[in-house]
Amino acid sequence: MKNIFKRLLNVRGMVVEDVSIDDFPLRDAPVLVARVRCRKAALRCSRCGRKCPKYDDGGGERRWRHQDFGCYRVELVGPAPRVECRVHGVVVSRVPRAEPGSRFARDFEMECTWLMTVANRKTVSGFPHVARRTAGDIAGRVAGRPESGMPCMFDGLTAIGVDETSHRKGHTYITVVVDHERKRVIRAHDGHGKQVPDPFFEELTPEQRASIRIVTGDGAGRIDSSAAEHRPNAERVPDSFHIVSWMTDRLDRVGKRLWNQARRAKDKTAAEAMKGLKYAVLGNPGDLNERQSTALATLAGVDPKGRLYRSRQLKELLRTLLHQPAGQAEGELKRWINRAGHSRIPEIVEPCRKIRRRRDDILGTIRLSCSNARLEAFDNRIKVTIRMAYGFHHVDNLIAMIKLRCSGLPIRLPVPVL
Ligand SMILES: [Zn+2]
Repeated sequence: MKNIFKRLLNVRGMVVEDVSIDDFPLRDAPVLVARVRCRKAALRCSRCGRKCPKYDDGGGERRWRHQDFGCYRVELVGPAPRVECRVHGVVVSRVPRAEPGSRFARDFEMECTWLMTVANRKTVSGFPHVARRTAGDIAGRVAGRPESGMPCMFDGLTAIGVDETSHRKGHTYITVVVDHERKRVIRAHDGHGKQVPDPFFEELTPEQRASIRIVTGDGAGRIDSSAAEHRPNAERVPDSFHIVSWMTDRLDRVGKRLWNQARRAKDKTAAEAMKGLKYAVLGNPGDLNERQSTALATLAGVDPKGRLYRSRQLKELLRTLLHQPAGQAEGELKRWINRAGHSRIPEIVEPCRKIRRRRDDILGTIRLSCSNARLEAFDNRIKVTIRMAYGFHHVDNLIAMIKLRCSGLPIRLPVPVL
């Protein structure tokens, strides 16, 4: 019987002494409590894993949450003796199926992490019953594990992208470095500003640095200057996603201005129509729902000079020309700049100037074909991950979560080890 439980609980290297069910009145589910202990001969140092003699019983019993059995929560309860290590002195012994300092069994953490990478927030907090903060701690602990068994992510890089993304309502930033070719995040760290891409470049070996040929960014000077310092021969271009976003931001402003005008003029129907349009204008034509499409159709009445419609058209033109073959795109870009320059829409003047000024860079982006829809989808995935990580206590856990979801790490559900 105890052997069956040992296999069910997947606790290799431990002895199951007793199993009982506790109907804790204060908890929402009954708990299956399994008393376990390490085999005496298998005591190891929790820091280095060396076999060590037992020192004393330590701070008494500890509990680890394990994967549920049906509607029963499962907890492992056992002693946590201290051992005397030759190198580390007196430390707590290693628990075979749990990380040091964790209140969860390793299998539980793996299951929870797997869920976090495939399911939404509600599922993660509802199904394994863990609080957001705890889920964040688990992500932080697990993220380092699968990576250690993989080939180095910095090897063989050819095109990388550096991007800053805000979290916590834009007050704090994280910098994300992506591998364009393999479509994965290779590094994410806290903070932004001039010095931000530097630690990444400094971490690379000279060979790894030399293989980078293209660095894309949002067009901000600091990424450029950092890349120029560490990798002077690489081409530096703005990525297509950011080029389009220069226009998207402005489009939002045109909408807001027209809406305010309509409101001030007490034109209720116009203001209502504009409300529906805000998102319709920002989305891509293929992604619009029926209501947004109707709102877009009523646009002509609200905006007699067609400013919003024309700005939208300009954005769409820009988006499509970035995906065209280089030879064709050059002429198109020239026509676009001409058209935007004569649009008489005050909000468009500035991005138009920016695009004219950086025309060569933009043509570089098109030529190097760093522009594709997959990159945009990838950027969205990072943003969704940031939303999923809402409620995590430490930014390190958010970064761990980005790695887990966007770095292509092999995350598998636990399998029997016995
Ligand atoms: Zn040790």
